[in-house]
Amino acid sequence: MNQTTIKDSCMLNKGVGLHSGQNTALYFYPAPEDHGIVFFRSDKNVHIPANYRYSIPSALCTTIEDQGVQVTTIEHLLSVCNGLGIDNLLIELNAEEVPIMDGSGFEFYQVLKKAGLRQLNSSKKVIKIHEPISYQQDDITIFVTPSDNSSFTFSIDFDHVQIGQQEYSFVLTEKNYLDEIVNAKTFGFKKDYDTHKKKGLIKGGNETNAIILNEKGDFENPEVLTWLNEPNLHKILDQVGDFYLADNLRIKGTVFSHKSGHSSHLNFIRYMMDECPDKYSVVADI
Ligand SMILES: [Zn+2]
Repeated sequence: MNQTTIKDSCMLNKGVGLHSGQNTALYFYPAPEDHGIVFFRSDKNVHIPANYRYSIPSALCTTIEDQGVQVTTIEHLLSVCNGLGIDNLLIELNAEEVPIMDGSGFEFYQVLKKAGLRQLNSSKKVIKIHEPISYQQDDITIFVTPSDNSSFTFSIDFDHVQIGQQEYSFVLTEKNYLDEIVNAKTFGFKKDYDTHKKKGLIKGGNETNAIILNEKGDFENPEVLTWLNEPNLHKILDQVGDFYLADNLRIKGTVFSHKSGHSSHLNFIRYMMDECPDKYSVVADI
């Protein structure tokens, strides 16, 4: 299999940032072999690779930074790039935050798919896991074992009647990603939502772009749900995006995660890439 980019440039008209509330449009351009996924802040004239080396700690989203310039909430768009197998892409925006759109990856998927995918001349590369790699952080566990597939088993445990303990297993192919993951919306708890709103955070969050779980044990806005286990599926959508920070390479392995989130995903990727070089290798995807 060869590296992939998009056939034609395309754009996604104005959308609002979940945290900043700022409006911005996204412009997507084809990129050559070994370019990777790179963001361009046109208002600052700074390019920032979507790579763990540029990633900075951020509680509620995934953020990259270079020369003091950031791009935030990149995870859903990055997830779609991984889901579609796009290795090389230039993404231009003139604000700090990638728009939240409908809270899932669907609109990114639609625009990139419509632009079409183009195979380049060099082989696609993947991270082939040779030996298990495990990571523990308080009650969070992430480990990856060797496999010929790229798969994710994710378990969550939230103190809410509509979620509780759940587990979902997903094998990453473009078809499965479209069928099972891309529509899964972001979610949050009403009490956090109210607190964040009061503090002036999640300015762009509303009842159409996030699943909200209330204190009565219900979904506040069940009309936005596609699946009852959508929060679990969204955690996988986030992880598929965060894990693409590993040099924009798919991991050939089985990833098991319990209660992980953006910061532990990033810590795991750093640990794997920088401290476990003997447990994986970067190989052509054949
Ligand atoms: Zn998310």
